[in-house]
Amino acid sequence: MDRRHRENPLSGLETGTIAVTAGRPPRVPDGPLNAPLVLASTYHAGGEVGYGRYGNPTWEMLENAIGALEGGLATSFASGMAATAAVLDLVPDGGLVVAQQQAYYGTLTLLREHEARGRLRVRPADLTDRAVAAEAIRGADLVWVESPTNPMLLLADVPELLRLATETGALGVVDNTFATPVLQQPLALGAAVVVHSVTKYLSGHSDLLLGAAVVRDPALAARLVATRSRQGSVPGAFEAWLALRGLRTVHLRVRQAQQTAATLAERLASHPEVSAVHYPGQGAMVSFEVAGGAEAATRVTEATQLWVDATSLGGVESSLERRRRWPGESADVPESLIRLSVGIEDVDDLWQDLAAALASGVPG
Ligand SMILES: *Cc1c(COP(=O)(O)O)cnc(C)c1O
Repeated sequence: MDRRHRENPLSGLETGTIAVTAGRPPRVPDGPLNAPLVLASTYHAGGEVGYGRYGNPTWEMLENAIGALEGGLATSFASGMAATAAVLDLVPDGGLVVAQQQAYYGTLTLLREHEARGRLRVRPADLTDRAVAAEAIRGADLVWVESPTNPMLLLADVPELLRLATETGALGVVDNTFATPVLQQPLALGAAVVVHSVTKYLSGHSDLLLGAAVVRDPALAARLVATRSRQGSVPGAFEAWLALRGLRTVHLRVRQAQQTAATLAERLASHPEVSAVHYPGQGAMVSFEVAGGAEAATRVTEATQLWVDATSLGGVESSLERRRRWPGESADVPESLIRLSVGIEDVDDLWQDLAAALASGVPG
């Protein structure tokens, strides 16, 4: 095992303890407690790394922390999509990828591009449906799982999907961005690869783009590092440093946001201007449909004072958006659907702001 992928010395500890403890320099007199921000494109010759595209001590500490949280070996990337691209590179030419049909939009777009070029075969399927999943996964080389799904927030039977993937000899991949390792640890459920948009909850402050892929198999980790080195999809050292700082509180942020999300979902469900609420009881993403339709939903997103009208998720601040404002969003998603990313503000302040915006959306 190379020095970039060390064994996890923290296994057995709780998630919050790992988030605070992992990815720190050795405890030596006068050594810093925190990871140093190393800004270097090259290193003195004679070592294992040699050049800035092959490794960086700040990435390494972030990787140790994410790896410890997910229970595997993490490789960091410039963004979640860069991690996704590197994982899809693991599939041999002409290989079959079975993907959750409501996977992240960027992932589906990249898969369609690979398919159009003849690089991969792609089979989107509703993996939240057991019978459909069992049929679709047969013969796959890679199975791409997301649970909860975006933006309908449906849950899949993740252990069962990973069992089916293993049975057919496929790599089972879980994009764990929405659930985070605080709520779901896919490697322990049988996944071969966990992908993260570190941009979201792991870093948690909407101030950087970063990705990671976490695996159990050291040979797979080495292939991901080689792909990153070759393609140059490396994270910035400052982003890695910021992400590590944000990650120290991921357990507190995610648990608080989840509790607030559950309360808001309950209140939304009994609001007269809301026709449906989609909340699986896991995580801090909530979607709901506005009874007045698309225009009323747009008015709601424009009327909030606390909630930020913006895409993305996982920040300390609460945000919302009408998903169908994006031309690429699936036609299966209702026009009036608003997706909430619940942050860590006070729940009653968030509710009052949302309720006032819903009232302003009522015509006449
Ligand atoms: C944002 C996101 C991605 C892509 O991550 P970037 O950091 O934006 O490249 C992938 N998967 C999910 C579920 C996401 O939310």
